[in-house]
Amino acid sequence: MKICRFNEDRIGVVIDGEIADVTAILESLGSARYPFPNHDVFIANLSRLLPDLATLSRRAQRVPLSSAMLLSPVANPGKIVAAPVNYVDHLSEAINQNELNHGSRIHRIQTVGLFLKATSSLQGCSHGVFIEHADRRNDHEIELVAIIGKSGRNVPKERALEYVAGYCIGLDMTVRGSEDRSMRKSVDTFSVVGPWMVTADEIPNPGTLDLCLTVNGEERQRANTKDLILNTAELIEFATSYYSIAPGDLIFTGTPAGVGSVRTGDRIRAEIASIGAMEVAVHEKCNIV
Ligand code: MN
Repeated sequence: MKICRFNEDRIGVVIDGEIADVTAILESLGSARYPFPNHDVFIANLSRLLPDLATLSRRAQRVPLSSAMLLSPVANPGKIVAAPVNYVDHLSEAINQNELNHGSRIHRIQTVGLFLKATSSLQGCSHGVFIEHADRRNDHEIELVAIIGKSGRNVPKERALEYVAGYCIGLDMTVRGSEDRSMRKSVDTFSVVGPWMVTADEIPNPGTLDLCLTVNGEERQRANTKDLILNTAELIEFATSYYSIAPGDLIFTGTPAGVGSVRTGDRIRAEIASIGAMEVAVHEKCNIV
């Protein structure tokens, strides 16, 4: 099932180019009292809600996909985990290109570990990316994103995919420079996820997916998730050996070679097999405070 969030926090099931509006499902989540949970309550209940979502979607009002504003399919991720230099070809380009490494030695992911992106950087595809620092190089990075479905700690890789609720496409937008990754990759709107989540039952093997990114129609990145250094299951094992994961946590699995800069006015198109494609506009700095 393809599940999206759209317009003013509505929930939809994507079917044949249309969205079946199943927002009524949220009534079954009940209300929370302070202290509110620090995970995503909809994703935490998703496996229980799937049969009702299917039923509701059959009689729901339909909205054309083309007219909807797609939001992040996860509203409240407790954390956004990301994998640096996790494709062999991107590791090579990061070592060889000074504009990418800024004089820092590039280490293998097993040495450098994972990093976190601020949850305030989360953005749905329809609202686009806003370039806060136009004087710096701002890069696109297409990545497969795993959406965690249940809590876990010290999860072995053999069981790790049981903890995945679904997948979506991610753009790990990046300001190049010498600052810490957690700062350069946490600019508001720099964690684009979408266009919807595909439930894990439709992607039994996330390690065989073609991915492709174009900017203004020109191909920049093309790869397959089989070339990940640490695959999705190994990333979950690695992450949970340090911290627990919770429903709605996002795991950005890393980007292949071909990262490059974008500017105001550009249009990014990101596509991953079995998920779909999303178009993301690049806007100038947002002056809303
Ligand atoms: Mn990345």
